Amino acid sequence: MKNTKAERRLKDLQRLKELERDLLLQPRMKELMQACMRVGLKPGEALGWISDFCKWDLDQLSDGDWQNLIYEVVWFAIYGPAIPGTEFVPSGDYLQDLIHDPNSRLPSQKMIEELQQWAKARLGEFIEDGETYISLQPASVLMVKRDRKTARAEMMLKTNNLYQGFAFSFAHTLREAGARLNQCPECGKYYPARSNQTYCSPRCQNRVSLQKFRTKAQPASRASKKPGTRKQKPKR
Ligand SMILES: [Zn+2]
Repeated sequence: MKNTKAERRLKDLQRLKELERDLLLQPRMKELMQACMRVGLKPGEALGWISDFCKWDLDQLSDGDWQNLIYEVVWFAIYGPAIPGTEFVPSGDYLQDLIHDPNSRLPSQKMIEELQQWAKARLGEFIEDGETYISLQPASVLMVKRDRKTARAEMMLKTNNLYQGFAFSFAHTLREAGARLNQCPECGKYYPARSNQTYCSPRCQNRVSLQKFRTKAQPASRASKKPGTRKQKPKR
């Protein structure tokens, strides 16, 4: 029993390796695979990436950082996070052909900046109002496809517009993982929260704890000079 399971796993791995080899032959696929590792395949990870993307100061990025970010955005726009329980579905298969054409142009820095502004605005609405609206262009078509192998139906966006591919992956990510989206009250950053998490990072948590400690400690240290009044809370 265990043996066959291991054999099946080995076969899967071999198949994966073959798939990887075939995919890597396509132009720009290596860069895209690396971008995929950074963005993450789970909707929660992709939401983390979007949150980070919104926070980055694009003026401060080095050439290498820019190159990485461009591929991350392209990866996200074409493939996006995997939909749980289904085969890997690209969100824009016209875009896919376009990007693997080595003569096609990668998105410009201006486009990335526009996408950052757009994503920031959508996350802001989503946090503030609990909903956000994503418009589709008339030329974009949603296709719903029945997959008998997985006994599910899948949906993909047919578009050759990177903005639209990005918007579709964004909507999908938000639908899957958006319930966990939070805004840090200390630094304003968006982040996918674990339960009971108020601040984006230990750093923000510590900063707030330190501030609280200081405001508590200050009046107490003044009061401590007068013995007997220590326990009284001084009023300011
Ligand atoms: Zn924070």
